[in-house]
Amino acid sequence: MILQIALDTPLRRVFDYRAPADVAGLASSGVPPVGVRVRVPFGRRQLIGILVGVSAESAISAPKLKTAIDILDASPIFDPVTFGLLCWAAEYYHHPLGEVFAAALPSSLRQGQAVRQNIVTWRLSETGRQELTSPSSRRAPEQRALLAWLAEREAISSAEVAENFKPAQLRALAARGWLTTAGATANVALGPAQIDVRAAEVELTPAQAESVTAILATLSRFAAHLLYGVTGSGKTEVYLRVIAAAIAAGGQALVLVPEIALTPQLVDRFTRRFSGGVVAMHSALSGKERRDAWRAARGGQARIIIGTRSAVFTSLPNLALIVVDEEHDGSYKQHEGFRYSARDLAVFRARRAGVPVILGSATPSLETLDNSATGRYARHVLPQRPGTAQPPRMRLVDLRRHASDQGLSTPALQAMKQHLAAGGQIIVFLNRRGYAPSLFCNTCGWIAPCAHCDARMTLHRRAQQLRCHHCGAHTDIPTTCGRCNQPLNPVGQGTERVEETLVRLFPDAPLARLDRDTASARGAVQSVLDRVHSGEARILVGTQMLTKGHHFPDVSLVVILDADQGLFASDFRATERLAQTITQVAGRAGRGRLAGEVLIQTQFPEHPLLNRLLTEGYEGFAISALEERREAGWPPYSRLAMLRAEAKDSPGLDAFLRAAADSGGNLRATVKVLGPARALIARRADHFRAHLLIEAASRTTLQRFLDDWLPRVEQLPGPAGLRWSIDVDPLEVD
Ligand code: ADP
Ligand code: ZN
Ligand code: ZN
Repeated sequence: MILQIALDTPLRRVFDYRAPADVAGLASSGVPPVGVRVRVPFGRRQLIGILVGVSAESAISAPKLKTAIDILDASPIFDPVTFGLLCWAAEYYHHPLGEVFAAALPSSLRQGQAVRQNIVTWRLSETGRQELTSPSSRRAPEQRALLAWLAEREAISSAEVAENFKPAQLRALAARGWLTTAGATANVALGPAQIDVRAAEVELTPAQAESVTAILATLSRFAAHLLYGVTGSGKTEVYLRVIAAAIAAGGQALVLVPEIALTPQLVDRFTRRFSGGVVAMHSALSGKERRDAWRAARGGQARIIIGTRSAVFTSLPNLALIVVDEEHDGSYKQHEGFRYSARDLAVFRARRAGVPVILGSATPSLETLDNSATGRYARHVLPQRPGTAQPPRMRLVDLRRHASDQGLSTPALQAMKQHLAAGGQIIVFLNRRGYAPSLFCNTCGWIAPCAHCDARMTLHRRAQQLRCHHCGAHTDIPTTCGRCNQPLNPVGQGTERVEETLVRLFPDAPLARLDRDTASARGAVQSVLDRVHSGEARILVGTQMLTKGHHFPDVSLVVILDADQGLFASDFRATERLAQTITQVAGRAGRGRLAGEVLIQTQFPEHPLLNRLLTEGYEGFAISALEERREAGWPPYSRLAMLRAEAKDSPGLDAFLRAAADSGGNLRATVKVLGPARALIARRADHFRAHLLIEAASRTTLQRFLDDWLPRVEQLPGPAGLRWSIDVDPLEVD
């Protein structure tokens, strides 16, 4: 018997091994089921892979064929739908299957830990009972209490003891021989299997009620629903109602969110509504927490799984519903290694599982809007905020006509004064961290460059460093120009500098800053959010971290310092991202009792995108943007894949990409191959970067071409140290 194993290696193939001798004992049929983990020798190492097929023969000659060491599971580690999803994803994204499986498992399970938890249980031994009743016993009161407690119970797990007593007491009793233990392979005892669905606190608006009813009607089959609701319109409330119904019927719900650290409120809201069975899955968990969450999901005890991108791969035997919150968010796309879109996989998974999926957003991606326009997705609109909250008033501030103090225009400063006086909180948004984006010589025009990239260094004044935001390089701050020795000036604004300016201009208004620099320490995000929620901080300065679904009821004014980044960018998605960001940041204003106001500073107040956004909203923007995409033949009206490559040898890199572009075979005419073109940052970390863009009329055409083409590209010679990757449905194309 030959086992075909997918191993966690970059090689795009499966590996044949002879079955271990005792394989027959493992499965009643004598054949192990696909999806179990197998430990195998690989070079001088041992690896754990996933069994994907069993055959009678191998193309490898018998002497070369190695024997697997052991089979770790009696039944597949993934549920059937997840297994199918992973296999499909490996093909669709043209990524090695073994690496795809690895992405779906917590590291401890990748390393061979048991899928089910082995629970040690305790009970009193005979001598323990004697000790308890012995009048001469002089045990410490806590130990006596534990003895008495155990005497009333059968097999108790360490975890249950730990809820009531210190683990040290248990060890002390065990050391004296007063306890006996037994190992039991429990089907995981994490989280109550029963879930208490608390009564909802609010009465649904008619639009919410309609959406809930329509989604519930599809509860036991596949349907994709776009829940298109302005920020604060009550989308989360809709999710909660549908989830309640899904889990009341015994199911599990998977809720994907862009970032958990930034939205602890959302997880809180779920735990408050559903008292037990809610499990969070994200990268900030420890290895053990991740494993426990995974086991609870796989075992069916976890009923609601809230997680980031990779949670889409969680094994869920009773999956009944998938929710993708803020479906437009770029963080659903993995940009390294296995480049998948969790949003797209969520829809695919729902289809395979025969369950509904809800894609929620105030600013849906153009792909999703197109899917709803053609009727592939049902569309439900929440047009208003519930209660009295009104949409914010938006206006443009012409930076060419108004004086400004370090990037803050006079109208913006006036509005800030008024809102502070009225008791409102203020958000100042700028998508650029650091103190200043460049350090400039007025005399000769020199700008401090990164030595390793084609990019400028950003000045970080508090950290006393110049930092490259592309490769992470940092240096001390030079005091004089690298060319003419004259003094240097910081030019432009970053959040750190805006903070400095605002502290000077509004000394009485406590300020909080949220960006990747202030959020790096553990717990830092939470403490910033706490200061805003408590009302202590009056002004909040930050980057796009501020746009992620926060609900700050007292924010009445949002100032967008620079709307112009993205107006003239080369990436065809840049305007979509800009419109989403502006709409999302603006949506933080006026969510409570105070009316909201939004000021957008720009050098281009006549720009059609900004005007359309103000007069017709995101919807108006989206309609014209889709029209432009159709005319230009960009997605969703075509399908793309990007071959990115990098190497230190620039001519060698170009030669490789040109050879790749020419090696299309007989399917070459079915697609357009654009490039080679240099990347926007043409050199990063000492590597030159360039790409080919493949454009096809349909998914099928693109996939057929890639199937035929990629094996040819793999055969091409390239310069030393060449790295290349394929990105199917890339989000960024420059
Ligand atoms: P979204 O997810 O669309 O941003 P939320 O569901 O967070 O919106 O709702 C915004 C606010 O409105 C929350 O404070 C929520 O409790 C409240 N809310 C939601 N639905 C209702 C309703 N039907 N009646 C009153 N308040 C509601
Ligand atoms: Zn100079
Ligand atoms: Zn750099």
